[in-house]
Amino acid sequence: MTIKYKSIKEIKKMISKKEISNVEIVNEVFKNISENEHLNAFITLNEEDSIKKAVHLDNNPSDLALSGIPFAQKDLFCTKGLRTTCGSNILNNFIPPYSATVIKNLENAGCISVGKTNMDEFAMGSSNETSFFGNVQNPWGENLVPGGSSGGSAAVVAAGIVPAASGTDTGGSIRQPASLCGITGLKPTYGRISRWGMIAFASSLDQAGPMARSAEDCALILNEMCSHDKKDTTSLDENIPDFQKHLNESLKGKKIGIVKDLDLSSLDNEVVKVYEESLNEFTSLGAKLVDITLPNLSLSVPTYYVIAPAECSSNLSRFDGVKFGRRSENPKNLEELYVQTRSEGFGDEVKRRILIGSYVLSAGYYDAYYKKAQQVRRLIKNDFDNAFTKVDVIMTPTTRGTAFEMGSKGSDPIQMYLEDLFTISANLAGLPAMSLPNGNINNRPLGLQIIGNFLDESSILNFAHMYQNVTNWHMHTPDGVRK
Ligand code: GLN
Repeated sequence: MTIKYKSIKEIKKMISKKEISNVEIVNEVFKNISENEHLNAFITLNEEDSIKKAVHLDNNPSDLALSGIPFAQKDLFCTKGLRTTCGSNILNNFIPPYSATVIKNLENAGCISVGKTNMDEFAMGSSNETSFFGNVQNPWGENLVPGGSSGGSAAVVAAGIVPAASGTDTGGSIRQPASLCGITGLKPTYGRISRWGMIAFASSLDQAGPMARSAEDCALILNEMCSHDKKDTTSLDENIPDFQKHLNESLKGKKIGIVKDLDLSSLDNEVVKVYEESLNEFTSLGAKLVDITLPNLSLSVPTYYVIAPAECSSNLSRFDGVKFGRRSENPKNLEELYVQTRSEGFGDEVKRRILIGSYVLSAGYYDAYYKKAQQVRRLIKNDFDNAFTKVDVIMTPTTRGTAFEMGSKGSDPIQMYLEDLFTISANLAGLPAMSLPNGNINNRPLGLQIIGNFLDESSILNFAHMYQNVTNWHMHTPDGVRK
């Protein structure tokens, strides 16, 4: 018996039928981790603690929602007593004294956190190449990037090492790697999941979410991740529905918004074909395609690259060598302590963002850049509000193409920033959005993005699940198609 490529639902069944023990599962996971070391997907492992928990569960079976499910956690979530680096040298030695609410919620639901996954430094990137701990390899091909910033999480799910992982998404970091690795990932509504204990990149955009093999599993995990949290002032105090409840609802008569302003002409024909074929699948399921317009959509990427660096320059000022993590050796004075610690501790991309952010926030430029960006952000949000008076969900490709070769976009930051062309607007508008596998070009997977209205994760999950009921793209693995 193996858990490789199995869904959470299947693994839970295997455990309850006693076809496999919790200890056997954990042993299999760590065996697979060592056999897949070349993926470089984990930064820190949690083996001893995982075995201890599995032994406990074997002796005290529990029917909690995620009982015994091995889970990989993005190394951006603080984990009590377990090193948390955020992919950065500056936090190389940081051992948090507490766990993020997300981690607590998942572990209280019974999951076993097997380790911390590699990621772009401070979640800034789209290829996992900015990590201090080196590239992650996409399990679909030797020289391919897994996407970023949640590249390690996407890779370990895609490789079948664990059925699920946590990710975070500021501009696309759950959806883009999900697309490039052929898995399903959901960024919930801003505020749905507590940010407490998540290392901040851009606080008004950051949101955690599940990465798994199917929409059904994402719904199950989302139920456990969400909670109103007084420790996060942006945590929403809203009813949390059972996200599994509407998965099987008929799509007859439901409306899918097709964005007329989206310029697909720069995409490969094959990418457009994959997208159009999935839309056809939805119309066969009874859904209707409705043209909508998002007139300010083309301003999303430039708007994001003012707001996100501005917020990061402020958030990252706390890493000064005094309070957290690494400190440079033998500084002569306080000034040198700050300068050396930050110069040695941060990588180039992080430094670039801090510089841009400090610039757009500085007196004299604030109105021209930061304030303007905030105004445009509101226009983008208004466009979505308008569109959602006419449709239930909006669909776009998740990415402009399939996984690219390592090093191929490194020299041009703009090319890398355009990786999130289709995903960034949902973060700016605070809306939930998901990526699910919808095709394969030259044995490289591709994803479809479904964007939902504010707090309406249920509709996205419903569309995604109904699609996965009649297609098998989510069953494709680097080893072939699963039955
Ligand atoms: N790729 C985008 C960036 O580098 C988004 C990253 C993210 O969502 N964390 O900012």
